[in-house]
Amino acid sequence: MTFEYAPALESRSIVSIKAKYGHFINGSFVAGKKHFPTINPATEEILSHIALGGASDVDKAVMAAQKAYTKTWSKLSGKERGKYLYRIARILQERAREFAVLETLDNGKPIRETRDIDIPLVAAHFFYHAGWADKLDYAGLGHSPKAYGVAGQIIPWNFPLLMLAWKVAPALATGNTVVLKPAETTSLTALLFAEVCQQAELPDGVVNIVTGDGSTGAAIVNHPGVHKIAFTGSTDVGKKIARAIASTDKKATLELGGKGANIVFDDAPIDETVEGIVNGIFFNQGHVCCAGSRLIVQESVAEEVIEKLKVRMAKIRVGDPLDKNTDLGAINSKEQLVKIKELSAIGDAEGAERWSPQCNLSNKGFWFAPTIFTGVTQANRIAQEEIFGPVLSVLTFRTPQEAIDKANNTPFGLSAGIWSEKGSRIFWASQHLKAGVIWANTFNKFDPASPFGGYKESGWGREGGKHGLAAYLKTGKETGAK
Ligand code: ADP
Repeated sequence: MTFEYAPALESRSIVSIKAKYGHFINGSFVAGKKHFPTINPATEEILSHIALGGASDVDKAVMAAQKAYTKTWSKLSGKERGKYLYRIARILQERAREFAVLETLDNGKPIRETRDIDIPLVAAHFFYHAGWADKLDYAGLGHSPKAYGVAGQIIPWNFPLLMLAWKVAPALATGNTVVLKPAETTSLTALLFAEVCQQAELPDGVVNIVTGDGSTGAAIVNHPGVHKIAFTGSTDVGKKIARAIASTDKKATLELGGKGANIVFDDAPIDETVEGIVNGIFFNQGHVCCAGSRLIVQESVAEEVIEKLKVRMAKIRVGDPLDKNTDLGAINSKEQLVKIKELSAIGDAEGAERWSPQCNLSNKGFWFAPTIFTGVTQANRIAQEEIFGPVLSVLTFRTPQEAIDKANNTPFGLSAGIWSEKGSRIFWASQHLKAGVIWANTFNKFDPASPFGGYKESGWGREGGKHGLAAYLKTGKETGAK
């Protein structure tokens, strides 16, 4: 006999959302001209109206960042900069619940994840980089490495505040100032972060936040006052940015798409592996650039793995993101849902076999049941293109070399996972995989000290760790970044 879970709703009373937001420039909120709605993707409720930044807003923000860099931020010692970062980190911890609820409302991801993963990692990123601020001379990046000045930072909607932390914390620690644009569907936590900057008494203009769409992002990229671009998003937009800066001396790190291979050898501990597969593809609704979206499983254990995976998938709780029992929340936007549906339909048409557990999906909001496709071949589009949703493509292999060949047969190279009890096999496989991040017997583990980034169409450069610092410093030894 099984017991039904009682609802365990997190209260949303801790957040107060304004009806309308402007931009955060030079330490103050300034009114926007045009606005667009931001909704809760689980209910389609309009949460607020976000300003659509134009070239003149970007220009004001860059001017403020330049002034702050010259007059204040570049004059402070690393130790002083570090104090601000520590202060921000502590405030983020104090206000963690507020951020977690707001992120869940605006993004659709489960409160369990915002509360236990996103927001703690955000604080960890600020703490980690606060520690570096006065030790840059000892980071192995040359003597007295210097900041670039103004960093233009453009982030996506899948981990809104975490991507902000990945960008802002190293930029500030290394002495740069920032103009950041959140994604159009998820600006609210960035705007709350602006309040944290005020609360921490961060000098005016060190962090500026301009909201808007792709045209706002392009205005940041093309502004002559911006010396360094840090972008996370789709490979298409990454390519546009690379083209836009090709004839300039702007530096860039680009963290783009992926089609991560999760390789299961026949000696893997199957039950743990199944947990890892679920975490690899269904964490954050599969809206993860490093998701393990291709399961490459040894033929001799494939049947057992798939069978156990289906049993486990039937226990995934899809529903209200604010419910603490929910595992899989809402798809972030209608557009994304359309993309997931389109690519899944292509999987059907290509002859792969689709399976999803029975789920009661709400009529309001954007939902997609956890899904696997078996019988996928390398030529199938669902094996090659990023779906960015809770959809797993399953391929099989016979020899270890075949597993590597299949794993590397992709235009991307962001992440991979290896499941095996043999250490030697793990080392061998990880040496041959062309992926920036490789997990062994785990998946989707993030740490601010660990560099993250990709090969090929997954991007340029690394974020996090010492490598991530290098990308914000002039005399730093950059790793793959332009
Ligand atoms: P996704 O597919 O995850 O929505 P995008 O690459 O479209 O990713 O968006 C990531 C971020 O890049 C968003 O903040 C978006 O507004 C911004 N963006 C979109 N187009 C451009 C562009 N041409 N130049 C700069 N930024 C852009």
